[in-house]
Amino acid sequence: MEYAALVDVYRRLAATESTNEKTAVLAEAFADADAEHLPMVVALVRGTVFRAWEPGDLGVSSGLTVRALRKATGVDEDRIEERWREAGDLGDAAAWAVDHRRQRTLVSPTLTVRDVYRTLRDLATYEGTGSRDRRIDAVAGLISDADPEEARYVVRTALGHLRVGVGGGTVRDAVALAFLDGDVSGTDAGDPPTPSEDAVAAVERAHQVTNDFPLVAETARDGGRAALADLDVELFRPVEVVLARNAESVDAALADVAADLEDVLLERKFDGARVQIHKDGDEVRVFTRRLLEVTEQFPDVVRAVRERVTAASCILDGEAVGTDPETGDPVPFQQFSKRIRQEEDVEALADEVPAVVHLFDCLYFEGASLLDAPLRDRLDRLSAAFDPASDSIERAANCRPAVPGDAPGDEDGNGDAVDAAWAFYREALAAGHEGVMAKNLAAPYRPGRRVGTMAKAKPVMEPLDLVVTRAQWSEGRRSDFLGRLFLGCYDPETDALREVGRLATGYTDEELRDLTARLEPLIAEEDGRRVDLEPEVVLEVEYEEIQPSTEYDSGYALRFPRFSRFRPDLGPEDADTLARVERLHEGENGTQ
Ligand code: AMP
Repeated sequence: MEYAALVDVYRRLAATESTNEKTAVLAEAFADADAEHLPMVVALVRGTVFRAWEPGDLGVSSGLTVRALRKATGVDEDRIEERWREAGDLGDAAAWAVDHRRQRTLVSPTLTVRDVYRTLRDLATYEGTGSRDRRIDAVAGLISDADPEEARYVVRTALGHLRVGVGGGTVRDAVALAFLDGDVSGTDAGDPPTPSEDAVAAVERAHQVTNDFPLVAETARDGGRAALADLDVELFRPVEVVLARNAESVDAALADVAADLEDVLLERKFDGARVQIHKDGDEVRVFTRRLLEVTEQFPDVVRAVRERVTAASCILDGEAVGTDPETGDPVPFQQFSKRIRQEEDVEALADEVPAVVHLFDCLYFEGASLLDAPLRDRLDRLSAAFDPASDSIERAANCRPAVPGDAPGDEDGNGDAVDAAWAFYREALAAGHEGVMAKNLAAPYRPGRRVGTMAKAKPVMEPLDLVVTRAQWSEGRRSDFLGRLFLGCYDPETDALREVGRLATGYTDEELRDLTARLEPLIAEEDGRRVDLEPEVVLEVEYEEIQPSTEYDSGYALRFPRFSRFRPDLGPEDADTLARVERLHEGENGTQ
């Protein structure tokens, strides 16, 4: 298949904002692609040559692209860069450079979809000395064979910004339309055709268990709905996770997941990184919630799985939490998250912040998928899959709030069950966890779904009343306003204010004007954009979380603070105290 045909599809996609029209364009492209090219086209219309979980990094920067363009066209780098600045897109600059090329090979071969796909995939395998030059040569090779339009899209794909506006939902609908609904011609009135709901559902389920649109498209084309329904979990192909709903309180979480308390399981909600662990004999791989492979980053987890997981083959789901090696207590996620990002010195980091994996699900066991099995049965398999005598891999702490016969004198047993749930919740918070998860023991595993199987209850943070201690003039449109505010809580012991964070959002223009008018007379000292203030103005502030911090002298920082309202009725000494911030941080102020 010629690359020009795919470029034509890109052009048509970019020319419309309508999702239905994009779906129709894609469906036609998928239906027209031959057997070999369909998987490549399905990947390339989203601007990638990798499966969702492949870590593939092409290693193509804009600098490298400019070099490649220079090499392929003979146009000076300065001129290409100037064009790039003007157009705001290096793909557009590439089209221009090819149009103005100074050198031309005598017979330039026609660029094919296969050439582009394979060349880009190969880029990710180049390593070590000389790899940059090899990448430049490879990209320049593609551009040499490209016409201006082709060059535009080769460059955009290589840089990872295709800009044709195709999301996963559009690909899903297009596969349904092309291969399950049979007719891509549209209505007589000229409206684009849309796929039927059940066709979309069949494709969606297949995608959720495989995360592989190219495979789903091929399967739909070759075997229709029946073949799609046969697609199932496979080892080393990560499965999309089930999502949790937010519940207002522990009671609400219980009610949200199941009509019958007998079917509810509560677990601690751990504040770590989701890990989906695939094991087949000695081979172990670890994937994140976003399906990326992080096996290399977690050598301690891999070792623990090899030692403790007794099942020959399984997929286990859990949360890896960083711990303090001295005390064994969980550490805040911020401290642990560097383990996900950092690919060097992984062993040293594993010693510094060792991971404990709390397992809470089993999706595959000894050769068979468990997605359709109720959670109750999956948890039985989970218990059979590993040996719990380990510090680093354990079953997530849980509680069944309603076990038959546990409620003497309480007619329906619910009173005790709810009390038990609250007690478990408070214990979880006291032990440094985020809250609890309520789960439906009768529910199958439904990847990607947020409905009715899992709900989370976390403390709703009470707003804090805080004093504005310092400020900064805003930038851009709001530069006449003091919009960046440092906030302090009151420490009665030292009669001083201790800063807990910086606020920059949540107010309307009107409120910001009002705020500036109140703060300006209080300016004590000004240094560039920064001003010190007499601490008098008190604001009520909402936030997501309180975290330990070395940045502020209180030792804490509010996460995502936002303005809620003025508290002209309060003076600085009426502000919330450092002790209260500490208590809230320690989770003593739950929702009950
Ligand atoms: P959230 O990110 O707040 O929507 O909550 C969902 C995430 O909580 C999951 O993706 C897991 O990473 C994490 N989590 C922590 N503990 C549990 C648990 N016991 N069961 C399921 N998910 C959990």
